[in-house]
Amino acid sequence: MTMPAAALVAACMLLAPGAILAGAEDPSPDHFPLGELTAHAAMISPRPPPGFTIRIEQPFVVIGDEPAAMVRDHATRIVRWASDRLRQEYFAKDPDRIYDIWLFKDKESYDSQAPSLFGAPPISPYGYCSSAQHALVMNIATGGGTLVHEMTHAFMRGNFPACPTWFNEGLASLYEQCEERHGRIAGGINWRLPGLQTALRAGSAPAFALLTSLPAADYYGINTGVNYGVARYLCYYLQEKGLLQRFYRDVVAHQEEDPSGYRTLQAVLGNPDMAAFRMEWEAYVLALAMPAAGR
Ligand SMILES: [Zn+2]
Repeated sequence: MTMPAAALVAACMLLAPGAILAGAEDPSPDHFPLGELTAHAAMISPRPPPGFTIRIEQPFVVIGDEPAAMVRDHATRIVRWASDRLRQEYFAKDPDRIYDIWLFKDKESYDSQAPSLFGAPPISPYGYCSSAQHALVMNIATGGGTLVHEMTHAFMRGNFPACPTWFNEGLASLYEQCEERHGRIAGGINWRLPGLQTALRAGSAPAFALLTSLPAADYYGINTGVNYGVARYLCYYLQEKGLLQRFYRDVVAHQEEDPSGYRTLQAVLGNPDMAAFRMEWEAYVLALAMPAAGR
């Protein structure tokens, strides 16, 4: 992910490995009290091995085995930066609980320590969410994209637990590649584009009405890669048209009468003929190109 210089908020104390850092002042009533975070940080399970730094970065606790200054830098430039902007854009409340963000410094540390700490080998070389331990487990050497993806899910659980799968994954995956635009978080084009373009050309990508109605078991089924692609680039389209924040607010407001979000999508788009809109969206996506250095 790309971070602007302005996001490099400094003014933090450096502590010895193992010490606990408070990253921000007491939050508002919709946020975890600092005392609750501090108490949680003192009781982290599994216990961090020697050499790990623990840092409170509202509303998360960050645990890392890089040098303390690097843990602080990642906590500030990724966790605080994304938390602030996701809150600003969508989320009034904190996640449903305190999540621990484990930042392993490299592949060797991630591959060797995560299995013993979390009881299973990593399911991805980049990172994953251990729901049993309420932990976001990352190989931070691969970048912050997967971390922001999982942070988005954590916020969604606290703000919109009934979020349909397609939008939960579409929004989270949008921010796998993100930057700041005019003070707001913005997703960029990423590695999911070429596979989606191939599926669109082959006619094998699901219609929006089907995608939005898929229960989780089907969304994560055999066609999951294409499902992610359609969901992500539908969110990207809404973002680029200035409609994504409004879609989030409306789909939350209408969650009982429109749990899939499909009718809300139609309304936010201005109630077009959806077959015509699909052709427009496909042409838009097929005209996108990967940036030179995209993951
Ligand atoms: Zn996800």
